[in-house]
Amino acid sequence: MQFKDLKTQYEFLKEEIDAEIRSVLSDGSFILGSKVEELEDKLAAYVGRKYCVTCGSGTDALTLALMTLGVGPGDAVFVPDFTFIAPAGTVSRLGAVPVFTDIDPRTFNMDPVSLTEEIEQVLKEGKLTPKAVIPVDLFGLPADYDRILQIAKKYSLSVLEDGAQGFGGSTDGKKACSFGDISVTSFFPAKPLGCYGDGGAVFTDDAETAALLLSLRAHGRSPADKYAYERLGLNSRLDTLQAAILLPKLAAFEKYELTELDRVAARYTERLRDAVTVPFVPDGSASAWAQYTILLRDEAERAFVQTQLKEKEIPSMIYYPKGLHAQAAYAAMDIPDSRYPNTCDIAKRCLSLPIHPYLREEDAERIIGILLHSVGEQHT
Ligand SMILES: *Cc1c(COP(=O)(O)O)cnc(C)c1O
Repeated sequence: MQFKDLKTQYEFLKEEIDAEIRSVLSDGSFILGSKVEELEDKLAAYVGRKYCVTCGSGTDALTLALMTLGVGPGDAVFVPDFTFIAPAGTVSRLGAVPVFTDIDPRTFNMDPVSLTEEIEQVLKEGKLTPKAVIPVDLFGLPADYDRILQIAKKYSLSVLEDGAQGFGGSTDGKKACSFGDISVTSFFPAKPLGCYGDGGAVFTDDAETAALLLSLRAHGRSPADKYAYERLGLNSRLDTLQAAILLPKLAAFEKYELTELDRVAARYTERLRDAVTVPFVPDGSASAWAQYTILLRDEAERAFVQTQLKEKEIPSMIYYPKGLHAQAAYAAMDIPDSRYPNTCDIAKRCLSLPIHPYLREEDAERIIGILLHSVGEQHT
């Protein structure tokens, strides 16, 4: 069994994807071009933003977005502690300082109360300027934008939504990648909408920001003159082949994949809710189910369950084994675990189960059976 079954997805979409790839090969044009523009238009329309600018990866999308916000040395950028390293790493690489916030123990997303505390702390210390916040739509669930946007307004922070896992999710009918000043997503193969390599996109409603992004992804070049540079940027573009692959994948995602993901998640939740802590989706929100992450009672129970699954050749993953504050890369910041109690607790008990639109009912039932059995065994 696969954790994310990209092979089965390809079998379903083979004819369309192969035809798209062949058309790129016979056109002989491989970087950007009309297919990339078509994809950008479709992505912007899907999430409900005016502009989409694709680029080489989700990480580059974060860097480009931070550059448009003018983030640099002396700035503090608030990032959830419990997430993939990219949002923090990009902040550091631009010379700014990521300031971690704890998470809500139910949604695993940035805790607005912790955000306020961390902002106040930065202001009190007076060394850094609070500049921006990067809420992450963790595991597919949009962050608490109602409250985070209010806090950002109060402290004049820009909001960069990291929708790398959230693409397809929504809150009150508003789609992920449409929240805050600017949003990004990733097309890494295992994300909700993945290509066959690296790829990413930035979304904005602001025409000037969109123009700046186009320049920044091409070394900072001037729109009028290809070899005049008004600023320094990156070389980060989406391959035409990746756009060709993403077009039929986006259509399938909209047409049925998201519904299928919901179906798998609903089955897990229904059957597992009495035995383990199942994911919490607040009223009005919908998850894109980048991960289906349960909580066990403690580290020992998680280890036992994971071993039981592994014996039956069922893959499971620990997203994430520790908070970013505890990563060796940030050891110099010397942050005690006690500052992020929810992250530390959840990192010990979380376990992500296989989920993808092509997971067969009987496979889901096998996973559920093993889980129920091993949790029961553990408790007697
Ligand atoms: C995957 C991911 C990224 C980075 O995307 P890449 O395309 O792999 O560079 C950024 N943020 C989050 C939350 C992610 O999960």
